[in-house]
Amino acid sequence: MSPDTSAEITSLRSAIDEQLLKNVGVSTKDATQTDLMKAVAQVARAQLSERWVDTQSKDRDTKARRVYYLSMEFLIGRTMSNALAALNLTEGAAKGVTEHAHTLEEITAREPDAALGNGGLGRLAACFLDSMATLGLPSFGYGIRYEYGMFAQDIVRGTQIEYPDPWLADGTPWEFPRADISFPVCFGGWVEHLGDKAVWRHNAEVVAKAYDMVIPGHATKKVSTLRLWKAVAPAHLDLHAFNTGDYGRAATVKNEFENISWVLYPNDSTPAGRELRLRQEYFFVAASVQDILQRHILEHGTLKNLSEKVAMHLNDTHPAIAVAELMRVLCDAHNMPWAEAWTLCKNTFSYTNHTLMPEALETWPVSLMQHVLPRHLEIIFRINAEFLEMAAKFRPGDNGFLSRLSLIDEGGERRVRMANLSIVGSHKVNGVSALHSDLLVQTIFSDFAALWPDRFTNMTNGVTPRRWLSQANPGLAALLDKTIGTKWRTKLDELKQIEAQLDNSAFREEFTSIKRANKARLAAYILETTGIKVSPDSLFDVQVKRIHEYKRQLLNVLHVITRYQDILADPSADWVPRVTIFAGKAASSYVSAKSIIRLIHDVGSVINNDPRVGDKLKLVFIPNYGVSVAEIIMPGADLSEQISTAGTEASGTGNMKLALNGALTIGTDDGANIEIRENVGDDNIFIFGLKTPEVLALKRGGYQPMRHYESNQSLKAVLDAISGGQFSPDEPGRYRGLVDSLLWGGDHYMLLADYESYVTTQIKVDELYRQPAEWAKRSMINVANMGAFSSDRTIAAYADEIWGIPVAP
Ligand SMILES: *Cc1c(COP(=O)(O)O)cnc(C)c1O
Repeated sequence: MSPDTSAEITSLRSAIDEQLLKNVGVSTKDATQTDLMKAVAQVARAQLSERWVDTQSKDRDTKARRVYYLSMEFLIGRTMSNALAALNLTEGAAKGVTEHAHTLEEITAREPDAALGNGGLGRLAACFLDSMATLGLPSFGYGIRYEYGMFAQDIVRGTQIEYPDPWLADGTPWEFPRADISFPVCFGGWVEHLGDKAVWRHNAEVVAKAYDMVIPGHATKKVSTLRLWKAVAPAHLDLHAFNTGDYGRAATVKNEFENISWVLYPNDSTPAGRELRLRQEYFFVAASVQDILQRHILEHGTLKNLSEKVAMHLNDTHPAIAVAELMRVLCDAHNMPWAEAWTLCKNTFSYTNHTLMPEALETWPVSLMQHVLPRHLEIIFRINAEFLEMAAKFRPGDNGFLSRLSLIDEGGERRVRMANLSIVGSHKVNGVSALHSDLLVQTIFSDFAALWPDRFTNMTNGVTPRRWLSQANPGLAALLDKTIGTKWRTKLDELKQIEAQLDNSAFREEFTSIKRANKARLAAYILETTGIKVSPDSLFDVQVKRIHEYKRQLLNVLHVITRYQDILADPSADWVPRVTIFAGKAASSYVSAKSIIRLIHDVGSVINNDPRVGDKLKLVFIPNYGVSVAEIIMPGADLSEQISTAGTEASGTGNMKLALNGALTIGTDDGANIEIRENVGDDNIFIFGLKTPEVLALKRGGYQPMRHYESNQSLKAVLDAISGGQFSPDEPGRYRGLVDSLLWGGDHYMLLADYESYVTTQIKVDELYRQPAEWAKRSMINVANMGAFSSDRTIAAYADEIWGIPVAP
């Protein structure tokens, strides 16, 4: 980036000192790293604030069409480094803090991650905001300001322990509380019909208060806004209870309302948890819709042109209740005729699906919806009645068709199908990779696709190169700047130019030594967080993502044990030293995923302490995976494990971040792996295992996992070792259930069917790694061909094809 002038640097230095004195409240000589973090943040914040005001006034003046991205999760990580880079302040801030004998890295590490998400879906929303700002798209993200976000993960004797993550405990310099922006959100009660007018007599009300985070664009002064809602009880305390000495009750009433924005609640294993989750969804949607309509009326004076100026996007079905809410507000509060409101509604909403697994599609019991949102349930019933009447004309007499399309699942306890509501209420529905979008219309949404073929489209995910290359991998970024210039940050296709360097040995040596330094940094982090010493000369084999059976961390473990047994059988062979690295959280109610975490630790403690193995093999689990941890892991990886059962991973974005940082992928023919392969070429990726049609055929034909166990000696030895207690001598039966689920429980994700192909492919990986120049070349080819996976490309396509908002080329 263009270097800051020395005058700017001097003024930045004094600005930091001034903030220390006036805002943080310490003398410059006593400032701690945390004080400096706050002072630097204040300097950046002031500039962000100016950019925010400018962007808002320009968008208002041009009466721009805006996109509102509704998401339960925004996994934004830390803000400081990204903000400094966007504001061109990195160099100045670095010099400023050096004055105080600290490095900028130490200072930025003092900021806690905003853990407002649980995985890929939330991180996607964060990458999208970065791209919306960078493309200058008039845009807001809307979500919840969770006080504790996702739980923090600790590992105690090999098991996951969850504890609250109080990321806001010391406040954050990055949010702008908007004291004058708040809306009531109602719950419960009943509905009265007075003539043709419906009146919702709610019996509870909470206030949503707005907090903004300013998301800066890069190489532009445009910003985007992330507006997060905090739930506040209408009255602070039940004073009556308080005055009668019932302090517990006085506080309970407050908590009952405010718990809505306490935690991101992926654990819905209890009825109370499920109800809270529904309240959360409605809470942020209701506040956002009020905010959006208020802005629209202020700018346009009418709701008639709502869909010309407003695009609302549903990031998965979590905000789908917005469809019913917008209908409610338009019809009940603004007296708009139903048909007119419905047209506006459909033209306003669009929806991204993130999963093909039927069990992961969100549904709510009709009885719960009746209890929490009685008016919305009525509206959903009316939408459904009109929709099914139309559909019945399309295929007269086909009751199966109608019952599959229905917004209400009538089998067993009646439930509202949120995906169906989202499709019916949107003008566009997209999947997140080419394969996923194809499968959507062929499988779970085939009936809708028959009805409305043009409604379905594909938007392959992407990641922001600012965070995932420029910020996470400053070494590689500097080499790129020197070799191809700096434009790749906003035009990622420029990376293609480094293919001209493939046979340039000086470039290759630099590229290799940068990877080596990133591995040393990762090794230091592993030592610090796990106490395990690993050698950066080993192949770093990385699988980092939420722990889930479909992602098949267990298949990876089977390979590690295979390798362990092979090493013991032939210790003097020429083994490629390898470190297998895992990180990821298991949902707190997900018993099998937690068992896999424990197995990784148990196997690790046997292998890592076996003197016969030494550096030939190490197995580590890095705790508390999150954005900042990922920023250390991605640049240090040699091999990227993307090994989901074909047809289960919608896209993946971890696969993109890793390849962008030069890791070679070992993966199945699944999600965006397929498109990565098309871009980097077959020779530069390791694809193995069953393909989606083969998985489906095997399922239909009667899959017999036991056959693989009986016919493959190594597989048998590995499974016997696990179930026989070799890795859990203190409790030999600990993993019998896990192994039984493979052998006798049907092996739902077909680990055993893919095992042999996986192990054979891992041997090919070793062979290539023995030729460092060849490996480096393929790694460079991966980096060079990742241009298509910038979230800028994804957002430009959404803007053009779904939201109808022009973006400057
Ligand atoms: C990218 C990312 C993910 C998504 O990883 P996948 O491998 O695509 O599942 C999850 N969590 C964090 C912190 C990430 O940065």
